[in-house]
Amino acid sequence: MPRAGAADVDRAVRAAAAAFRAWRRETPAGRGRALLRIADDIEADAERIARLLATETGNAIRRQARPEVASAADLFRYFGGVAGEAKGETVPLGRGLLNYTLREPIGVVGGIVPWNAPVQLASVKIAMALVTGNTLVLKAAEDAPLAVLEVAAICARHLPPGVLNVLTGYGTEAGAALLEHPGVDKLSFTGSTEVGRIVMRAAAERILPVSLELGGKSPVIVFPDADEDAVAAGVVDGMRFTRQGQSCTAGSRLLVHASVFDSFPARVTDAVSRLRMGDPLDERSDLGTVINQKQYDRVRGYIDDGLTCGARPLIGDLPAEAGPSDGFYIPPTVLTGVRPSWRVVREEIFGPVLVALPWHDEAEALRMANDTHYGLAAYVWSHDIGRALRTAHALDAGWVQVNRGLGQLPGMSYGGIKQSGLGREFSLEGALDGFTQRKTVTVDTHETPLPLG
Ligand code: NAD
Repeated sequence: MPRAGAADVDRAVRAAAAAFRAWRRETPAGRGRALLRIADDIEADAERIARLLATETGNAIRRQARPEVASAADLFRYFGGVAGEAKGETVPLGRGLLNYTLREPIGVVGGIVPWNAPVQLASVKIAMALVTGNTLVLKAAEDAPLAVLEVAAICARHLPPGVLNVLTGYGTEAGAALLEHPGVDKLSFTGSTEVGRIVMRAAAERILPVSLELGGKSPVIVFPDADEDAVAAGVVDGMRFTRQGQSCTAGSRLLVHASVFDSFPARVTDAVSRLRMGDPLDERSDLGTVINQKQYDRVRGYIDDGLTCGARPLIGDLPAEAGPSDGFYIPPTVLTGVRPSWRVVREEIFGPVLVALPWHDEAEALRMANDTHYGLAAYVWSHDIGRALRTAHALDAGWVQVNRGLGQLPGMSYGGIKQSGLGREFSLEGALDGFTQRKTVTVDTHETPLPLG
């Protein structure tokens, strides 16, 4: 992979700045058409991109890589479809004044994405930035740049030169140079909260608008009436075990009513035991490998830490076992007997590790759920809709799912609160708020009052 440095970033930003002059004047319909064609081409080449994605990330082709590529096409199609919706407003300020707003592009966007869902996360940034008339310099993650480059190559067929520029390289080199480049007008970052802070500091230096999609440690509240196998299957989906738990929205803290704490976690482990771990390219595999040695060691370290503190594994590997032989496989792990203060309960593991804790009343469940500096996703499982909605409204999270454990869909505003981020993605409103700036125009129309009657 090319290891981009400051000089490459500079070339890319200059290209983006030059292309911005014409791209911002392209009609919204023209920009939308380009995105729709990109969607078609991604779909036509989906299998090849999905195989590459599975190969570079270790994500199972059937359960993750193929659906991820399909979701990238959906995102381009959604944003292509809403291209003409960047509307402003007129504001009634009284006779003689016409006041209206325009939604204008910001300029050159510097985007940085992580490795866990690289094609989807790159696609959402490309589509949102470009449809609103900006140009983009995007840095792919060093651990998963290949499939993103394929998407970039497809985009290049339908975009004028310089509108989209994709760099590969390390965060501390290419990433840092992008954050500091004076030609960048907006920063859009998806990744860890730790690096998010660095991005926000860089934005503060130059008063740049910034969007941050950061980490999570999302709670899953299970009420006693939801002690069912179908709910357990939903919890397994929500934990993103089929992505080895490497998801920012993983529902990784399972909070179960004490009256069903003997039965419900067992249902979850039963569902987990049916998942097949194996070669990511094998159609039978439900989950593959974690991304690399560093992540493998990190996740095993958390499991080890939990067990040393006294956690009991309901299902999962033990850290004493040998290291990776033919891949960084970590069996899905469910830990019980944990305390709210432990690291396995408080910190984002970003691996296939679910911790289960009991609660006794609704207030306690909410206290436990909200006892975190994160606020990305949350899950509520109950047949009592009043109770489920009351809980959903009281949770500190940017996205609460009730009786559903699957992923984001184009059109829904998605993003975090607290230290999980700033801004929203996946939706028209998110694109408008994050990638356009409002200009107000106030016109004195010199209207003289008409004679009454
Ligand atoms: P990371 O923060 O280590 O890296 C993300 C990107 O930032 C990579 O491209 C990396 O090269 C770059 N980077 C690293 N250091 C940098 C620096 N000093 N300056 C500029 N760029 C730098 O995150 P990761 O390990 O790749 O991804 C996992 C994290 O991402 C998790 O915390 C996860 O929750 C989060 N995530 C959030 C969302 C969301 O939508 N909220 C989605 C996916 C992942």
